[in-house]
Amino acid sequence: MELQYCPKCGGPLETREIGGRERRACPAAACGYVFWLNPAPVVAGLVEHGPDVILIQNLEWPADWWGLVTGFLESGETPEEGMLRELEEELGLKGEIKSLIGAYSFFRANQVIIAYHLVAQGEIVVGEELRAYKRVPTERLKPWPGATGQAVADWLAARGERP
Ligand SMILES: [Zn+2]
Repeated sequence: MELQYCPKCGGPLETREIGGRERRACPAAACGYVFWLNPAPVVAGLVEHGPDVILIQNLEWPADWWGLVTGFLESGETPEEGMLRELEEELGLKGEIKSLIGAYSFFRANQVIIAYHLVAQGEIVVGEELRAYKRVPTERLKPWPGATGQAVADWLAARGERP
């Protein structure tokens, strides 16, 4: 995505080199806005519920995609708080964070994924952002290509369930 107008003063942006990279920046001397395009942090939860891991399908994803519970952080929220909020919004569950699995780059979406392992309790109530969810017995969970799939692979490896 290329930003056309300055969000600070409304003037047109230009492309110029700043800090060794081409960036969109405001040419108005009094403004000086630079669009840094920093990656956004996103939390992702590998959610254990009883003997299963819960995978979800977001309304915005293709119909054959299944993934972890994910979401953007709200301002003023810690990653852990954001993770527990997303769990409740998407699946209606209360959970406990067991561990940080890792942080993963998702370059295509300009995001950094912070992945947690959670154990959740309660009855699943599918949230507005989801098309569906499915249960996968933990021993049948398989990683997929991409950032959250790498988190799944690392979690399985840490459990000693996969080479
Ligand atoms: Zn400006």
